[in-house]
Amino acid sequence: MTTGGGKGEKILVSVRVRPRNDKEKTRNDICDWECVNNTTIICNNNLPERSLFPSTYTFDKVFGFDSPTKQVYEDGAKEVALCVLEGINSSIFAYGQTSSGKTYTMSGITEFAMNDIFCYIQKHKEREFTLKFSAIEIYNEAVRDLLSGDNNQLRLLDDPERGTVVEKLIEETLRDRTHLEELLSICETQRKIGETSLNETSSRSHQILRLTIESSGREFSLESSRTLAASVCFVDLAGSERASQTLSAGARLKEGCHINRSLLTLGTVIRKLSKGRNGGHIPYRDSKLTRILQNSLGGNARTAIICTMSPARSHVEQSRNTLLFATCAK
Ligand code: ADP
Ligand code: MG
Repeated sequence: MTTGGGKGEKILVSVRVRPRNDKEKTRNDICDWECVNNTTIICNNNLPERSLFPSTYTFDKVFGFDSPTKQVYEDGAKEVALCVLEGINSSIFAYGQTSSGKTYTMSGITEFAMNDIFCYIQKHKEREFTLKFSAIEIYNEAVRDLLSGDNNQLRLLDDPERGTVVEKLIEETLRDRTHLEELLSICETQRKIGETSLNETSSRSHQILRLTIESSGREFSLESSRTLAASVCFVDLAGSERASQTLSAGARLKEGCHINRSLLTLGTVIRKLSKGRNGGHIPYRDSKLTRILQNSLGGNARTAIICTMSPARSHVEQSRNTLLFATCAK
C-alpha cells in the first residue's frame, strides 16, 4: 500500500530549460536542446567530441522554454511540498549553474506552495495550526541568519531529540500571510546585502527557507485528536559550477576555493539516497548543508529536485553536468 510519503519513495527529479536571454540571442548562441515531450530532452549538438555523451535524457518531468513556473510547481514540487500538511518532512531543491534560473524558479515555487498551505489551513478550521518560519544562508561553510540583520556566524549543535539544530536561529511564528511576505522580503534584502559586502553574486551561497507546521485537533473521520509536526525546506543552491570536479590539477589549486563542499556532499548524499538501502553509509555530516537538512532528506522525508539549465551552446558542458547530476538523483 502506498501512503502520502515514506520509505522507498523516489526523489522527484525535474529539469527546466529557461529561454535564451538577450545576451545569448545577441551573440547568436545556438539552442542545442529540445524538449520533445514532458519527460524527455534531447541534445541536437552532434559535434564529434560530443558523441561520448548521451543525446537523450528522461526525467520525471521536463519543462521547456514556455512552461510557466506555476506548471513547474504543480507537476514538479507541489505533491512533495504539501506532504508537510500530513506531518511528513520534505525539501525542494533548485540545482543548476549560475544564471540558469534557480532563484527565478525557487522563489515562484515557494510562493505557490505557501499560498496552497494557507488555503488548506483556512479550509480546515477543525484543526489548529502553528506556522514557524526561519531562513539561513550558507556561504563557505559559514551559516548566517537571514532574519537577524547581523552577519554573525551561527554554530550547529547536536540535539538528542531534534538532530542537528542551528544555535540562536530566529524562528518567527507566522501571524498571517502578510507577516510571511514581510519576512520573505527581509530575506531577499539580506541576501543582496551579503552579496554586495562580499563583492560577489549569490552564486556561492545556499539559501534555505524552512516552514515548520504543527497542527492538532480532530482529523478526518478519526474520533481521537492527533498532533502532527513537520517542516518543508525550500533550497536555492549555490551555482553547480562550484561542484565541478573536472578541473586539471593546476587549475584546481587556483580554483580550489571555488569548490563548494556543501554542494559536493549534497551530490553524494542524493546519489546514495536514490540507490535506496544499497547506497551504504550516507555522509550527512560532511557538510553544513547536509547536516542541517538531514531530517528533510533521509528517513521518511520526501524530496523534489528541479534542475535548471540554459539552452545555449556556450553552456553545453555545464548543462550536461547538470543533467548528469539529475540522472544520478533519479
Ligand atoms: P540563478 O539563480 O540560477 O543564478 P536566476 O534565477 O537569477 O539564475 O536567473 C537568471 C536570469 O534569467 C534572471 O534575470 C531571471 O529572471 C531569468 N530567468 C530565469 N529563468 C527564467 C525563465 N524560465 N523564464 C524567463 N526568465 C528566466
Ligand atoms: Mg540565484
